[in-house]
Amino acid sequence: MGRTFTELPARSKCSRCRGRARIGLPSHNARFCPDCYLLFFSTAVQRALKRLSVPREEPLLVAVSGGKDSLTAWDILNELGYATHGLHINLGIGDFSEASRERVDAFARARGLSWSEYSLQREFGYSLPEINRRFQGKICSVCGRLKRQHLNRLAVRENYGNLVTGHNLDDEAGRLLGNLVGNRQEYVRKQSPYLPSPHPYIPAKLKPLYRLDISEIRIYCELRGIEPAEIKCPLSRGATSHYFKEALDMLEGRMPGTKRQFLFAYINTRQGETGQEADFGECCFCGHPAYADVCGVCSLKGQMEAKN
Ligand code: SF4
Ligand SMILES: [Zn+2]
Ligand SMILES: [Zn+2]
Repeated sequence: MGRTFTELPARSKCSRCRGRARIGLPSHNARFCPDCYLLFFSTAVQRALKRLSVPREEPLLVAVSGGKDSLTAWDILNELGYATHGLHINLGIGDFSEASRERVDAFARARGLSWSEYSLQREFGYSLPEINRRFQGKICSVCGRLKRQHLNRLAVRENYGNLVTGHNLDDEAGRLLGNLVGNRQEYVRKQSPYLPSPHPYIPAKLKPLYRLDISEIRIYCELRGIEPAEIKCPLSRGATSHYFKEALDMLEGRMPGTKRQFLFAYINTRQGETGQEADFGECCFCGHPAYADVCGVCSLKGQMEAKN
């Protein structure tokens, strides 16, 4: 991974210890030396965890793709002393999935962490490229739905009540903006860095990186020697979420701190609400919770089989 932050002038002083600063954070109006930067990062995660009310003794299942966000979430939770276990879903996307898997394995080995690997092909019956060949339209939204639902099921199978994902400030702020622009109130209501478990088959969801943006996560990876998979998914096609992130980046560039203000103002107004909806029925095929007679996984499987 290339250098992710520009060197500050030699006379720059760390905002915390007054030693030489190397990392500037305009959105916080702060400059840090590497040690104080790691402290700043860890404090932001601890503030998030405090807000999400995660007891230290709760074991956490971390969904790890092999990318920088999920490896960072796993690394910092481990550093903070949480008992963690990684969960990786291999989507079967050729070199991309191989590189992702290899990164998860190397990361876990270097730290002596345990993890489980599941294959979408084995769990669902089809790999993502096979699904992509049969469906027109937005593969990323199908992929997102399949990953979410399989993560829920696998967390229950692995006996974990808390599922951690690596969603960061940019993901959350971009998603909020997209849902507000599209007036998708049901998604706006459900958006939260912490969603308690609404059903015995659905774990609580935690996003401990929601206070940190993508550049802050890149710097953390560099300082901690985390080497995420850099290869781009070949199926990725212009997801609209990127446009909302770019719009927020433009505002952030002109008015540092805007992204945080936007997301945190929303989260603060929602404090005390759970975002959960418990009006589930059961899928008539697999028995898993579903809003309709058939769950998203079985409905997609039915469509795949019809195209055989
Ligand atoms: S880019 Fe799209 S298809 Fe590829 S892994 Fe991400 S969500 Fe799935
Ligand atoms: Zn310092
Ligand atoms: Zn089902």
